[in-house]
Amino acid sequence: ERKQVIVITPTYNRALQAYFLNRLGQVLRLVQPPLLWIVVEMTSASAETAEILRKTGVMYRHLVCVNKNNTNVKDRGVHQRNAGLEHIERHRLDGVVYFADDDNVYSLQLFESLRNISHFGTWPVAMLAQSKNKAIVEGPVCNASQVIGWHTNEKSRRLRRFHVDMSGFAFNSTILWDPKRWNRPFSNPIRQLDTVKEGFQETTFIEQVVEDESQMESVPPSCSRILNWHLHLDAHGLVYPRGWLLQKNLEVV
Ligand code: UDP
Repeated sequence: ERKQVIVITPTYNRALQAYFLNRLGQVLRLVQPPLLWIVVEMTSASAETAEILRKTGVMYRHLVCVNKNNTNVKDRGVHQRNAGLEHIERHRLDGVVYFADDDNVYSLQLFESLRNISHFGTWPVAMLAQSKNKAIVEGPVCNASQVIGWHTNEKSRRLRRFHVDMSGFAFNSTILWDPKRWNRPFSNPIRQLDTVKEGFQETTFIEQVVEDESQMESVPPSCSRILNWHLHLDAHGLVYPRGWLLQKNLEVV
């Protein structure tokens, strides 16, 4: 049985937003049968985002996350992803849930592979190692369909249980409300993504969803391919002449 795919994307208005959302939308539009794209903004739904979504031709829901604590923390999408999860849980949307940031690069094959996940799937994500001009890989090491270990270094091995990027795993939405069916470690409601510790959000979440590696599926079997890239291309450090910096969306046609 092939499942519905539900993609959660946090987004916000900035110069490259139109480029990022259009690029992601164009891949999502090619996925057959159509998937559901849940796009979440903070505080209010912007006209810019609404306009882009209308034009993509993807089935979407445009949500707003109201931060009840009203903290000013720059949480890089954590509250927004949680708002997406709440929506899925409240409406009992049955499918495979995937967190896709707007600025990453995704292959079409990734979204097609997601449908084959029955419980929890994970795969290696390629990243650009900053300043060294080299790619590194974060995620599982696999033997056939079994996850047997993780790409890691000495320091992070001691700190984190699972070494996965936010864009390197997906899971069956029914885990959220039906823990018994999946042998989820705890029967209490999932606390969702942790807002505090950067770098620990993924592992903290996954620890609530699966017991250990034996409950994970490699995607595709043997983790034999890179399906998406987390490039960190935002050039924060560049110095521009005065007046060159664009704060608003660039128009993409
Ligand atoms: N994001 C957001 N609001 C913010 C910062 C980030 O909605 O204030 C979104 C962003 O659009 C992206 C995701 O959160 O989809 C991850 O953000 P970013 O790329 O800055 O994080 P990184 O890739 O560096 O982990």
